[in-house]
Amino acid sequence: MPRRLASALLRRIIRLSSTRANYWLETAVTGSLSIGLLLAGIRAPHESWVAAFFIVLAGLIVFSFIEYVFHRWIFHGPDSMFQRGHAAHHRDPRGYDALPFFLPATLLLGLLAVFWSILPGWSACLLSGAIACGYVAYGLSHFTIHAVRFRQPWLLRWAARHHIHHHHPDRNFGVTTALWDHVLGTCYRPRRASRKDNVASP
Ligand SMILES: [Zn+2]
Ligand SMILES: [Zn+2]
Repeated sequence: MPRRLASALLRRIIRLSSTRANYWLETAVTGSLSIGLLLAGIRAPHESWVAAFFIVLAGLIVFSFIEYVFHRWIFHGPDSMFQRGHAAHHRDPRGYDALPFFLPATLLLGLLAVFWSILPGWSACLLSGAIACGYVAYGLSHFTIHAVRFRQPWLLRWAARHHIHHHHPDRNFGVTTALWDHVLGTCYRPRRASRKDNVASP
């Protein structure tokens, strides 16, 4: 019975994850947590503004790596709830596939507890707040890339990177930034036309 109950609960959570309400609730919950943590870190007596700036920057860079790792090795990895959810996004890029709204905030609070045990409180708040901020930026960027037609050339180039990923799922895993694709060699490089292709046929 508990096993049946657990699988029914899991099915319900998976169904919830693809709803519009879940998507916006997840953004609101994680966004509020991010703002709360960043404000708490800034208001607490901290070492210096320079140190605070670099901790926030470190949090954003750490999140960009988490984004890359999840996308490359979990969303495109072996069969799992996450892999199936992401496959649904590849089939329908304008759907509302996201994590259950409570999951990112729960994981971030766990991360905060870990940071709190090894760092001063203010830096633990800033670091986890910046990671939460990166997560929200990722969710909104991904939604916008599929929902908006950009006109500015740099935004067009940024969005095109992810559209290419939908055609070449083993390339361009970074959504917010191409940083880790460059570092780990997964940037999409268009195949150069061979000399033969360039020779006009008689
Ligand atoms: Zn996408
Ligand atoms: Zn993907």
